[in-house]
Amino acid sequence: MKTFPMFLTMAGRRVVIAGGGEQAAQKCRLILKTQAKITLLATELDPELADLHSQGRIHWDASPITAAHFADTALVFIATGCPGIDAALHAVAKAAGATVNVVDRPDLCDAITPSIVDRDPVVVAIGTEGTAPVLARQIKTRMEELLEPRLGDLAALAGRLRDRAAQRLQPRKRRDLWRWVFNGPVRDIHARSAERDAAQMIKDAIQTGTFGDAGPSPVALVGAGPGAKDLITLRGVQRLQEADIIFYDRLVDPEILELARRDAERVYVGKAPGAHSLPQDKISGLLVAAARQGKRVVRLKCGDPGIFARGAEEADALKAADIPYEIVPGVTAASAASAAMGGFLTERGTCDTLILTTGRSEDEQSSADWVNLLQEGRRVAVYMGVGTADQIESTLSQAGLANRIDVDIVGNAQLPTQKIASCKLGALSQTLQDNAIENPAILFLSHKKTASHLVSVQRGA
Ligand code: SAH
Repeated sequence: MKTFPMFLTMAGRRVVIAGGGEQAAQKCRLILKTQAKITLLATELDPELADLHSQGRIHWDASPITAAHFADTALVFIATGCPGIDAALHAVAKAAGATVNVVDRPDLCDAITPSIVDRDPVVVAIGTEGTAPVLARQIKTRMEELLEPRLGDLAALAGRLRDRAAQRLQPRKRRDLWRWVFNGPVRDIHARSAERDAAQMIKDAIQTGTFGDAGPSPVALVGAGPGAKDLITLRGVQRLQEADIIFYDRLVDPEILELARRDAERVYVGKAPGAHSLPQDKISGLLVAAARQGKRVVRLKCGDPGIFARGAEEADALKAADIPYEIVPGVTAASAASAAMGGFLTERGTCDTLILTTGRSEDEQSSADWVNLLQEGRRVAVYMGVGTADQIESTLSQAGLANRIDVDIVGNAQLPTQKIASCKLGALSQTLQDNAIENPAILFLSHKKTASHLVSVQRGA
């Protein structure tokens, strides 16, 4: 970050704006949203500014500008509309030690005004360090849609009730309260202008300590996707942000853990292939124990929690302990890998059946019937398959398929270390070796239907 976002305290502080025309008026409108005291330095004011001055909302100083004008300011805007004068005034303001923004001169700015979504006291500031103003506007539009107009009033109401909640409720209960307020019926009711009803609901909830669904919160088995931070679902991010404790796997990228609350506990329960750091029943036991303590638990797994992730065993343990659970799906490695190659998992007419399988089951080599799996028209995505590649290659080659099956290999799909290679089946082991591809990788074996096949069928008929 070349610039760092901060919210400046403005109440009662001085902001000086040099200029009396439209540019100065723009800055003035912005700063009038705050509680700062505005002084305009200009020999003349345009009608809008003159009006603000006559209403007593701004001070006006028409005397010759010196460094003293800029002393003791929170911010200075230089906005005369004349580049030469702006540059000269910038030097004067800097001499006074001010933090300066010069209109249209990012090179002279100590501070850049962001794009703002204003739901005071909720304020979203968006900056791109001048690289992409159009993008900033697009983000602003999205945020404007996302945050209902009355959200600021609800936040202010919550602010007024914070002390009362702190007196009556324990910290975790308080977090649940505010989660319920901002995520549930109260926000809806408030957004529909029923402010008094919303306030009453919050007060009742604080008073009685009961709100929403009082049952234990479900343990969330969340798919983190293949590793890239932006390939987890929005629901997954939401669960991470709600979590008190997160149990995560080896293949979950640390960047994704950053999406969780800073004070959430993070527990590593992953295992490298072949190395048992924590047996599965121990992991299930940890989930049950944490949920029983009333914690909001997230079990974060790479890819999709329903695919080669031992989710069923954890779910069984939770069921046995009478703890509810929820599955949040994720982008599985096969989808991520296929997309990374610019390919498609199924292709109409030539590859209509997709099979997900694994090179390993538990720690034993797979006993999959590869020849049967790879009938024509099928694509098989092999998870954890690098170690079994030799065996797959020799089995299928013996069945005469060495040149019929196309292989695509994607290692570390969607990550900076991604590797992609393609070959015929007969060259699988060699290709893995040449490209130094190791797990995590997906092997795609495709036995496509071809026109030549149709011809041979006709001949045979
Ligand atoms: N639940 C996961 C799979 C876990 S098994 C999912 O749905 O994707 C672990 C295997 O997943 C790895 O051995 C590898 O075959 C595959 N895998 C996970 N992340 C991957 C990635 N980024 N690129 C390629 N393969 C990946």
